[in-house]
Order: sequence, then C-alpha cells, then structure tokens
Amino acid sequence: TEIVKSDIEIAQAARLLPIGEIAEKLGLREEDIIPYGRNKAKIDLAARNRHPKTAEAKLVLVTAMSPTPAGEGKSTVTVGLAQALNKVGKRAIAALREPSLGPNFGLKGGAAGGGYSQVVPMEDINLHFTGDFHAITTAHNLLAAVIDNHLYQGNALNLDPARVVWRRVLDMNDRALRQIVIGLGGRTNGVTRESGFDITVASEIMAILCLVEDLKELKEALGKILIGYTYDKQPIYVRDLHVEGAMAAVLKDAIHPNLVQTLENTPALIHGGPFANIAHGCNSLTATRMALTLGEYVVTEAGFGSDLGAEKFFDIKCRKGDLHPNAAVIVATVRALKYHGGVARRELGKENLDAIAHGFANLEHHVRIVERANVPFVIALNRFTSDTEAEIEFVQTLCKEHGFPVAVTNVWAEGGNGGVELARSVISTVENSNQTFHPIYELDGSIQDKIEAVCRDVYEADGVVFTDEAKRQMAECERNGWDELPVCMAKTQYSFSDNAKAIGDVKGFTITIREIRPSLGAGFLVCLTGDIMTMPGLPKEPTALKIDIHEDGSITGLF
Ligand code: ADP
Repeated sequence: TEIVKSDIEIAQAARLLPIGEIAEKLGLREEDIIPYGRNKAKIDLAARNRHPKTAEAKLVLVTAMSPTPAGEGKSTVTVGLAQALNKVGKRAIAALREPSLGPNFGLKGGAAGGGYSQVVPMEDINLHFTGDFHAITTAHNLLAAVIDNHLYQGNALNLDPARVVWRRVLDMNDRALRQIVIGLGGRTNGVTRESGFDITVASEIMAILCLVEDLKELKEALGKILIGYTYDKQPIYVRDLHVEGAMAAVLKDAIHPNLVQTLENTPALIHGGPFANIAHGCNSLTATRMALTLGEYVVTEAGFGSDLGAEKFFDIKCRKGDLHPNAAVIVATVRALKYHGGVARRELGKENLDAIAHGFANLEHHVRIVERANVPFVIALNRFTSDTEAEIEFVQTLCKEHGFPVAVTNVWAEGGNGGVELARSVISTVENSNQTFHPIYELDGSIQDKIEAVCRDVYEADGVVFTDEAKRQMAECERNGWDELPVCMAKTQYSFSDNAKAIGDVKGFTITIREIRPSLGAGFLVCLTGDIMTMPGLPKEPTALKIDIHEDGSITGLF
C-alpha cells in the first residue's frame, strides 16, 4: 500500500535552492534583496524602480466555490498552477498571503499549500517567518498604549474613554482576551475602561500594509485611522495624536515583500495576510506589483469563495492599485459539490452524482460573480483520491453543457505536472480574451447603493435590511464625508446569505446590515452582517499538543 506523506514530511524532503539563486532567476541584483537566512529574503521596494519597465505580466486570480469544512485547496492550486506555468515555459510567480500564527496551534494550520504544491520552508513561513506580523502587532499596540496614555495624561483631546474604537492585537487564538477591563489597580495604572484583543490579521494596520505602495502612503494611511470620538461625538484620528511616524518606523522592514520558493523552486512572494471578512483578504499590493514587474505570469489568491475574496479583490485591491486581472481560476472539488448538493460531511467519500448535479448551482453562482467583473475564467477541479472516475467525468460533462472551461488538476499529488492542463487552459484563456476588467460597483453612489449592489449582484439577495444602528452610522459616515469609500462586507463565508447554514445556491433571502465600521486608514467601510469573530479560540484538542521539535531542530506535527 502507498504511504501518504504529510505536508511537513514532503516539505522537509524538498531540495531548496539558496534564495540568492531564486532572486537571480528573477533578474534581481544583490542590492535588490535583503536576505533573511538561507531560504528567505525581502525584496527592497525600490527594486521596482531599478528594473527596466517591461510589458506588465498577466495577473491570474485563484478563487473558489463556497468553502466547506472539507477544504477546497485554493492555496494548493495557486502554488501548483505557478509551478505548472513554469513547466510549460512561462516565468510564473505565486503571490500569497502570510499565514497567521494563532491558527497553527488550533485546528486548521497555516496556508502554505499542500502535498506537492507547497511553499517552503514551511516551518518558517508558519512560525514567525520574517517578523512582519510581530511588527504589525507592535505598531498596533503602540497606538493603543499612546491612546491610553493620552487619557491618563490629562486627555487634551477630550476623547471619550467609552468611545475608543481601537483595541489591542495578538497573533494567538486566545478567547479569554476577547473582552477585558484595562487600567485596574489605581490611578497610576491608567483610566479604567473596557477593551479587548483581536487577532493580528484582523488589525486595520494589516489591511493598510496590504494596500499602500510605499512608506509615504503608509504614513498617510496610518494617520487617517479613526481611534474614537470625543464626548461631543467628534471623530479623533491617529494624526491628532502625532504617532503615525513612530508606527511607520516600526513597519520599516515589514513593508518589503518576502521572497521564498515552492517545492519546485518556483519563486513565491508571500506578504501580508488580512482577514477576508472584516478586511479584504488578499496579499499585499506591493508583493503583487513586484511580482508583475519580475514575472510573465502572476498567480495570486483571495480568501474564501468569490462572493467574499474575489469581490473584494476586484472592488478594493484592484481598484486601489489599478490592477487588471487577466483571468480567474475558480477552484471546485467533487466533495464541495456534493456538500452543497446536500450530502452530510461524513458521507462525502461515497459516490453521488445526483448530489453533484444539485451542488453545481453553487459553482454556477460563483461563475456569475466573476463574470460581473468581466474577467474570463477557468474552473479547476481539484482532484482528491476519494473522487471516482464517474464523478470527475460527470463534473466535466456538466461544465461542458454550461459552456464553462474546466481542467482537472492533480497538483496536490503531482506538483506542477498535475497542473499542466490547467496552465495551458489559463494561457489560452488569457491570450484569446478581449474582455476588460471593471469593478463590480462604482464608488460614486451612496453607501446604501454600494451595499445594495453587492447584495443584489454578488449574493443575489432579494433585498437588504438596515438596522436602526446601521442607518445611524451610515448617516454619520455621510456627515463626515466618508461615503466615497468602497464597502468591505463582513459576511459568513459558508453561504451567499448571512445564514451560515444556508448552503448550496440559496435563493429568496434578504441580508441584514447590522453595523458599519469605518476603516479610514485602510480606506473602506466594513459592513457587518452578523457576528464576526475577530479573536478565534482554540478547539478542545488543539494542534499545539501534537507539535514538537527534536534534538536536530526538526519540527513535527505542524500538519
Ligand atoms: P484553501 O486555500 O482553500 O484554504 P488549502 O490549499 O490551504 O485550501 O488546502 C487545505 C488543506 O487541504 C491542506 O491541508 C491541503 O494539503 C489539503 N488539500 C488541498 N488539495 C488537496 C487534494 N487535492 N487532495 C488532498 N488534500 C488536499
């Protein structure tokens, strides 16, 4: 019988090239890179200016059908496709998000791909990496400390302690810190007030770092962060506290994108990792731009399904950075099709063509979303060993009937070789398309117009209900002149609706907008449709109990 190796075993057996060689392959010079040990480097942002301007590379977004607890494999396909493009002679680069440290110790693990389509060194990428998240955590908490010190030192700005919206962050799943009381123990310990911790990836500074293009813009964006309101409800910003300079100084290294490689020595830029619910869920604009300067094809991903990640990629990241995606890959799996067709999780291993036929409606909806942005697409059917031949053929037939281009990919089991068909299909889609990308909604409408556009055109809801609180906040945003910003919807990833249990292609629902939170530094208005978890907890049996390090320094149990 065949022994299936774990992701970490495969990663540890990989033959990595020195990072200098990967940089050289990209045409980078010694002064362009800042090495972090043997296998990691940062690329100096200024390297973009030092490079002769060539025709911009093709940008390919990897998105997916609605996620299921079984896992769809977006990162795996992103890495696998970049490897496959190299196999067929294109200089391709993967651009990915940095994994958050907290979830490593919980359930899911990191986001370094899987099987024979991974980025390496995976232990480093998943544990600390180049310290970007520590820098973001520090910049965030520096601001928190300055705010509380301001309250303590006489509160010249008249900031209402009960209306401070800036919390603290930590890159750990720690449910006990969600709601806390600070400043206990007497006057010299500061002003007593309620606060709490979010996970670092939920920090607005993470979103900012991923949307600015240089230090100047970083400092401006940090200055715009809303920290709270005065007793007479006037907004107070970071620039009122004059701390944006120090915060930007803490982020001086974090702003440069990180260079690593895949198992097949394909270059990968891994930089930034904002949440895909209360933020936009894409790697940094600086990394995507750098990759577009250095390669012929750039394969990047956005979090969750296309209703969340791709919509925000189009409407927030591409709009902000003037990016023009040339194609999208929509990842589908036989298991997810069966799941959205009504099959229970424990039954997903059994062949079931009827369920696939039902679940296909979910995939069709994701196709419509990508078409809204006028981006041509290919469906990548990510093959699992439990899929039967009849199931694979049936999905291909359904795609053919609908006129959807589809390629079966086996990049998890075979690396780049398993993605050659997908790579060819992506190349011909890009080369033969005359479609031009446009965002799904325009910015000049009211906040309500923009929310309604996403709910109608992307989720296909029948209507939108605004709570009184949300209406009040929308009016306040308009009064303050914040209504020109794009919206960043915070919705469950499991359903097109705001009810996580309504899977498949749900129809006949309304979306309830409960709260609007301005992220003025990042430049979007977060619209909350339900309870959004910004500090995860650990499960009953955390992965941390299985992770170990041995005398030779090797790590086990990370996956
Ligand atoms: P996503 O980016 O959609 O969250 P990942 O690419 O991180 O998904 O994959 C989630 C998990 O599923 C990983 O542990 C990965 O190794 C595994 N996986 C992905 N594709 C396959 C496949 N075809 N067969 C088996 N396992 C897979």
